[in-house]
Amino acid sequence: MKDRYGREVKSIRVSVTERCNLKCFYCHREGEWHEHVNEMKPEEIERILRIARRLGIRKVKFTGGEPLVRGDIVDIVSRASAIMDKDVSLTTNGTLLKKYARELKDAGLMRVNISLDTLREEKYLRITGLPLLKNVIDGIYEAVELFNPVKLNFVLMKGLNDDEVEDLIRFSSDTGTVLQIIELEAPVEREKDDFFRKYHLNPKFIEEHLEQVAERVVYNELHHRKRFVFDFSGKKAEVEIVRPMHNSEFCMNCTRIRLTSDGKLKPCLLRDDNLVELLSPMRNGANDEELLELFKRAIMLREPYWKPENLK
Ligand code: SAM
Repeated sequence: MKDRYGREVKSIRVSVTERCNLKCFYCHREGEWHEHVNEMKPEEIERILRIARRLGIRKVKFTGGEPLVRGDIVDIVSRASAIMDKDVSLTTNGTLLKKYARELKDAGLMRVNISLDTLREEKYLRITGLPLLKNVIDGIYEAVELFNPVKLNFVLMKGLNDDEVEDLIRFSSDTGTVLQIIELEAPVEREKDDFFRKYHLNPKFIEEHLEQVAERVVYNELHHRKRFVFDFSGKKAEVEIVRPMHNSEFCMNCTRIRLTSDGKLKPCLLRDDNLVELLSPMRNGANDEELLELFKRAIMLREPYWKPENLK
């Protein structure tokens, strides 16, 4: 199904919990800022995914919070993989991945993104609040044995980890992962916050540099972004740059809808004012046709956050 801007909604990003075992100071928490624990049950997630499938959505990504703190995540993935035939993936901080990777693979997980903002233990502690870098690294090595691709999510932060870009490229080529260098993101009303001004750095300069040194630039059709492929110390390195801020092209290529952990459809990561309740009508006895209509309503509420006419 297409939204009012002609964008086909192809995937759903499901937050399965707001709980997390890390406390990354910059985290946008997938746009969930309220403390509540009314998490959807596996069978409720399954029912919502079946409705999404009727609208042509064939890809799901689980996120959070930290999806692996849910004891029933393998069950959730298994139910999803019976419905979503194009992609079932998950974004994780990796701290618990070594333990769950094999079970997740057997349950039908196809791909994984692992957050890794630094390779230095002391800095990892500063960013996340816990000394668990080794667990993440172990999780990455386990993941590459089972999934392809494994992507590393590296959020670029000025004065904090911008000196580690080359080390991360080396690490991703050593491990056979794809490195995603992600721009720190915030809604307009937070752009003037001290925190954002201190750490935000547009990764465009890295993109321009990679453009010069890459052996090949491949266009990633799936995400509408370039992938820079080059030889790094005799091994292949693959790097993608994700630049959402003030990027109307990024928004125009957005084909996803989100679902909060307490069952609200969320048309845009950066907006909290147009959520559509799905879980409470469902628990109050709504039938599938009624839920389908709510889904359609949420899709029709989608609009690009960064529009060309609003950009200076
Ligand atoms: N706990 C999981 C994890 O760490 O991957 C899933 C949730 S986390 C919110 C999903 C991704 O969003 C992570 O890769 C994280 O680095 C990224 N992220 C969090 N806050 C961000 C921000 N303000 N700007 C850009 N990316 C952010």
